[in-house]
Amino acid sequence: MLDFSKIKYVAVLGGGESGTGAAVLSKERGFETFLSDAGKLAPRYVQLLDSEGIAYEQGGHTPERITCAQLIIKSPGIPDSAPMVAECIRRGIPVISEIEFAGYFTDAKMVCITGSNGKTTTTLLTYHILQSAGLNVGLAGNVGRSLALQVAKEPKDVYVIELSSFQLDNMYRFRANVAVILNITPDHLDRYDHKMENYVAAKFRILQNQTSRDAFIYWQDDPVIKAQLDKISVEARRYPFGETREEDTAAYLDAEDRLMVNTPGNSFSMPRADLALHGLHNLYNSMAAALSGCLLDIRKDTLRTALSDFGGVEHRLEPVCDINGVEWINDSKATNVNSCYYALESMTRPTILILGGKDKGNDYSEILPLVHQKVKAIVAMGVDNDKILKFFGPEVPEIYDTHSLDEAVQRCAALAQEGDAVLLSPCCASFDLFSSYEDRGRKFKDAVRALTL
Ligand code: ADP
Repeated sequence: MLDFSKIKYVAVLGGGESGTGAAVLSKERGFETFLSDAGKLAPRYVQLLDSEGIAYEQGGHTPERITCAQLIIKSPGIPDSAPMVAECIRRGIPVISEIEFAGYFTDAKMVCITGSNGKTTTTLLTYHILQSAGLNVGLAGNVGRSLALQVAKEPKDVYVIELSSFQLDNMYRFRANVAVILNITPDHLDRYDHKMENYVAAKFRILQNQTSRDAFIYWQDDPVIKAQLDKISVEARRYPFGETREEDTAAYLDAEDRLMVNTPGNSFSMPRADLALHGLHNLYNSMAAALSGCLLDIRKDTLRTALSDFGGVEHRLEPVCDINGVEWINDSKATNVNSCYYALESMTRPTILILGGKDKGNDYSEILPLVHQKVKAIVAMGVDNDKILKFFGPEVPEIYDTHSLDEAVQRCAALAQEGDAVLLSPCCASFDLFSSYEDRGRKFKDAVRALTL
């Protein structure tokens, strides 16, 4: 537990959304505050810091202005091994995250969502449900404004927070009233000494400090979650979800394909076909969000409406348009093989799949059965497509080597026939040809829409 009466000076490392928010809250709570960023600050954050009268530096750290702090707030993007952080840790200065810091200054209810895939979708869907119910709710973590800024400037009664493992790393006392772990598959292992158990432990930090009054929602069929639950004890009440009902399953599908949700005070059902989000992965996301909604006593009709009128999330299985009976889908956020697996799983039409980009050591065998079942052609799109061409060459009827988005889209347009789908779900990061997955998704949508001009 931090003793704030002993803290006079707070240094914030990193000046993005979370760092600037933390600095604003720190200053507002009366601490002398200094923000330091090794890179360049975005103009909007410079403006915010200036308008709040917060001291800062950019383009490098001045150790003397940082190591004299009694508390360091570190942005999730900076690893503990970064020299400035390592030095602070060596000196015994507490290093915490922005969410951890903000948690000290609010009594709001916290609905926290983590997992390897589906965090943003589930966070936004849960937020949509709570907003539709008229709650005074904030969106924070990896999406929306920082929690710290909201706590400082526009406090809410409830927050829905997307937490990555990096954010969880520097959280110690924070308590989630509702904690969701969607799934755990290997990711970011380079930040965890290449040890899966470290990554799993980081995800499970979401449960630390929970009491028997809190809730833990998780996918009952995830082998990694199951194995971890065999090893640890959980204080919170458990709400597992899955396709089929087991002894204590709290959300599942019944024999009539209806989503069923049971919590102590509430039971809720609706036809699966009415859910706004399609595909098995999104069924899980909808179950997690519906459980959170029931636990917060959202009225059934509001819950039903919100689950069916949610607008979806950009770059996640996002329908782009239908051109001559061909459906074009943007799943640019699928930067790993597991995401692409779920995208393919949801496809109901013969599919032309655009794959490729910066490979993070992918093992494509996970999607091979679905590729055999659903994919009529692969269009590889990247600077270096060798691995994809070699792996899938013998597996699909047609495969093409392209090196730009326009080339890939033109190739797909030439291949697609009425009744087909073209799916961009690349399994890879975007940095070889694009600045981000958002950039890749937007350029894809522009190029597809240009086909109709
Ligand atoms: P995150 O925020 O965890 O990266 P997103 O909601 O942005 O997750 O979804 C990223 C991709 O992961 C989507 O394009 C989709 O293909 C896949 N996905 C979404 N939900 C799940 C899930 N529950 N399980 C597995 N994959 C999922």
